[in-house]
Amino acid sequence: MGLFDKLKKSFKKDTSKEEQKEVELYDKGLTKTRDNFVSKLVNLTDKHHKITEEFFMDLEEILVMADLGVNTVMKFMDRLRDRVKKEHIENTSDLREIIVDELFIIYVNNEVLVNKINYAKEGPTVVLFVGVNGVGKTTTIAKIAAQEIKKGKKVLMVGADTFRAGAVKQLAEWADRTGSSFVGDENLKDPASVVFDGLKKAKEENFDIVLIDTAGRLQNKVNLMKELEKINRVISNFIPEAPHETLLVIDATTGQNGISQAKTFKEVTSVTGIVLTKLDGTAKGGIVLAIKDEVGLPVKYVGLGEKESDLSVFDIEKYIYGLFKDMIK
Ligand code: GDP
Ligand code: GDP
Ligand code: MG
Repeated sequence: MGLFDKLKKSFKKDTSKEEQKEVELYDKGLTKTRDNFVSKLVNLTDKHHKITEEFFMDLEEILVMADLGVNTVMKFMDRLRDRVKKEHIENTSDLREIIVDELFIIYVNNEVLVNKINYAKEGPTVVLFVGVNGVGKTTTIAKIAAQEIKKGKKVLMVGADTFRAGAVKQLAEWADRTGSSFVGDENLKDPASVVFDGLKKAKEENFDIVLIDTAGRLQNKVNLMKELEKINRVISNFIPEAPHETLLVIDATTGQNGISQAKTFKEVTSVTGIVLTKLDGTAKGGIVLAIKDEVGLPVKYVGLGEKESDLSVFDIEKYIYGLFKDMIK
């Protein structure tokens, strides 16, 4: 059974209420991308009935415009051309399912996908958030805190973005609103010292999860590297296998710029996954596929709106379904 049929089956019926809600979240959050990218694809297969070189060129352009990234698109096109040849496909209408299938393959790339946070077996799970200013780090922490608290977990937020004025206060307010505890001091300028206080509290008071907000100033790579090294040293002095995750937060609306941020952050520290925010705000949601392919990091969460509940553990099948549901009939 192809992915297409599987998606049709799994999301149309027999899903729990909670699953259905998630499907709707992707559906809504991907509206802009669907209206842009997918409708262009449909128009293209309507315009060209036969697969020609011109069709391939047009398709390539649509994919690049959706922020799939030039390298990813090249790879995709090669695979598509191969399949067209091997399977003797002549009509573009027969290609729709294959396009969906190949986009999925690009993301999955024969790996076993683990999207869940790597929770500690025992003691606090420490998650470090990095990323440039304005991408949605603080909001994401609040959203994850809300989810963890709903699961009955004891959550501690650590305000180690000591650079930007007001950042510590903003996180403290989120801690209040979500029912999390908070460590941070607006007057403390050394982020490692705030992290020290946070980890100490987390261990002494048996927190389940520690969410650490940082200032991701990429302007000075060497300084950022040193700062994160120091933070990591403090963390691992308390818990040797921590941080359990270092999540890089990327704003989907920044497109290829986000991809280059990811590449740079990877050089600066050991990132374990991506949080892609504001997917609801872009018509170029193809960036999900490009990040995995071009940066080699899995997308662990996607932000699909501004509300507390608008963050989802990334699920490639729901993403693909959200994009192509009008084509999957
Ligand atoms: P930070 O500087 O990285 O901590 O970024 P903030 O968490 O302060 O977020 C910056 C802005 O992005 C805020 O206005 C958020 O409401 C907004 N934002 C964050 N995530 C999302 C999302 O998934 N969708 C939308 N539409 N807005 C978001
Ligand atoms: P070093 O800075 O390279 O000597 O490494 P350390 O492991 O000694 O300390 C790293 C950082 O952790 C320090 O710069 C402080 O920011 C913080 N730190 C260490 N000890 C304490 C402490 O007792 N209290 C607080 N608040 N921070 C500490
Ligand atoms: Mg912030």
